[in-house]
Amino acid sequence: MEQCRNKQRLITAVALATAMVTLHGTGEAAIGQSPVTARLDLHARIGAYVDYELVNLLSLYKHFHNHPELSLQEQATSARIALELRQVGFQVTEAVGGYGVVGVLSNGPGPTVLIRTDTDALPITEQTGLRHASRVVATRPDGVSTGVMHACGHAMHMTVFTGVARLLTELKDEWRGTLVMIAQPAEEIGMGAAMMIEAGLFERFPRPNYCIALHVDADIPAGRVGYTPGYCNANVDSVDITIYGMGGHGARPHQAIDPIVAAAQVVMGLQTIVSRRVDPLERAVVTVGSIHGGTKHNIIPGQVDLQLTVRSYKDEVRTQLLDGIRQIATDICKAAGCPKPPDVVVNATDDYTPAAYNDPELVAGGVGLLQDLLGADNVVQRPPSMGGEDFGRYARKLGVPGFMFRLGSVNAEEFEAAKREGRTLPVVHSPAYAPDPLPTIGTGVKSMSALALSLLDPA
Ligand code: ZN
Ligand code: ZN
Repeated sequence: MEQCRNKQRLITAVALATAMVTLHGTGEAAIGQSPVTARLDLHARIGAYVDYELVNLLSLYKHFHNHPELSLQEQATSARIALELRQVGFQVTEAVGGYGVVGVLSNGPGPTVLIRTDTDALPITEQTGLRHASRVVATRPDGVSTGVMHACGHAMHMTVFTGVARLLTELKDEWRGTLVMIAQPAEEIGMGAAMMIEAGLFERFPRPNYCIALHVDADIPAGRVGYTPGYCNANVDSVDITIYGMGGHGARPHQAIDPIVAAAQVVMGLQTIVSRRVDPLERAVVTVGSIHGGTKHNIIPGQVDLQLTVRSYKDEVRTQLLDGIRQIATDICKAAGCPKPPDVVVNATDDYTPAAYNDPELVAGGVGLLQDLLGADNVVQRPPSMGGEDFGRYARKLGVPGFMFRLGSVNAEEFEAAKREGRTLPVVHSPAYAPDPLPTIGTGVKSMSALALSLLDPA
């Protein structure tokens, strides 16, 4: 297979060279050429390369999509990514934080740019009906067996990532600096970035000056990209509250302390944090997603358990929310005469996911570049999300600019038809989500490569 691929790469390289000579003479910038012309010239070369590499990348996409692995089980996926990076000359280290992979390509003095893909899939049984649909079944950590699907598009992220690695290697004469390309496991459970940082990502490998990534978007047609300046994803905290009462007979409430009534008051009290305490111009969410107590109609139980998800952008708001939850739960339980204060445990099982922040200056530069590359109509601003994404950890840890842009992935005709008919299309995490592979891969590789080249030094 490897021999076959090398031959294919040779054919690609020859075709590329031919295309470049046809398009731009020797491909070298003429003396006295303006920076804008040089940039357009480079963009044309990127386009020519992507056209030739697209068929190979499509089969790689089908491979990744066909072989999804759950969070913390990404063994074969990470091995394949490591192989792909090695084949184009990266210095590769595996097992950096679980199945994390780090590829380094040093190409002279200059800035260091980190490019991240995520690698894990979701416990979802695919229902797209596609020929390359996943039929994989795996076992979750709780022992339950489940279908597995790349329903969040991470198969697309890995394909684009590999295309970018190949392209930037081909264009090695055009740039100076260091590429640190990382394949991060366990994004869906918010752990992978922390695991890689913990395993010495920034001590064992060159320290990045910029961190960039992309994520597929099911609300943008393929061929377009989206961006959000500033906060794009939220701080995500999980809170567990246990309210203690005194059990008794449902017919004799005066001889018990009812934790269900106290829990109901706590749920309502928590709603006042966002509506009454947080500055209305800030963004925040407090959702009680689970409430459990009792066994039978006529028994007052001894305790009630609540599970919350808490979202914010700014650290101050996060602190305000968590303090508010503790205070309200404690004081309501006291007023209800509970025998002891409630347990309020923040992030009992995992650490929290910090908000992801797109550096406005980096975004502004990137948007101008992407408009040149794809056309102004194909670069759209997107609203921020209260969803979580642990990519924000890297730039935050280093205090350097980061930017995650959105990669349109919906078939353009289907997108227009759905808009006309007022239909909604499957979102990411849906068993029916199916990106339109060719235009999505092509746009992804072009956009990410051009963005990385703009941050590296010209040769
Ligand atoms: Zn996801
Ligand atoms: Zn995702």
